[in-house]
Amino acid sequence: MFGLPLLTDRDPMRRPLQPFSRQTRQKGSRLRGATVTKSVCPYCAVGCSMDVYTKGGELIDIEGNPDSPINEGTLCPKGANSFQLAVNPHRQKFALHRKPYSDRWERVPLDWAMNRVAELVKEARDEGFVPKDENGLLVNHVTNIGTLGGATLDNEENYLIKKLFSAGLGVVSVENQARI
Ligand code: SF4
Repeated sequence: MFGLPLLTDRDPMRRPLQPFSRQTRQKGSRLRGATVTKSVCPYCAVGCSMDVYTKGGELIDIEGNPDSPINEGTLCPKGANSFQLAVNPHRQKFALHRKPYSDRWERVPLDWAMNRVAELVKEARDEGFVPKDENGLLVNHVTNIGTLGGATLDNEENYLIKKLFSAGLGVVSVENQARI
């Protein structure tokens, strides 16, 4: 074929027409167009990296990060279920509160519970804050409050907990079930 341009398999002119409908062509991954934020699985010390997908501020998926040298895109069954932990119809949306001297628990809104916890933390800190020890050494600490985080707290939540309780309030005992 002298004189004609060389056509390769990469040339779109050579690609055979496929019998796809317009609807099929328009279909795509539900992750298309999502914002991807890198995170770390909170569950164990392996520290697998995660891609967290959000659209319009809503969490839509969590996958293993393929660029991570630790997990190369994989997650164990526990880490792979992180999305279901965050987005789940069984998630509790209220707290239970037993008033002083009451013999029953009552449902209270989460906002109310958060405010009550904040009030009690403030009270305890005001009572227990120690600016200097017995030798006059500056300590600025609190030993009458402790925090214990759970394994289902994510990396960012634990970062904020450490920042608030240690640097902010001076709490000495900050612990977490997950080894992060
Ligand atoms: S995905 Fe599994 S192995 Fe990886 S950090 Fe999370 S719990 Fe550990």
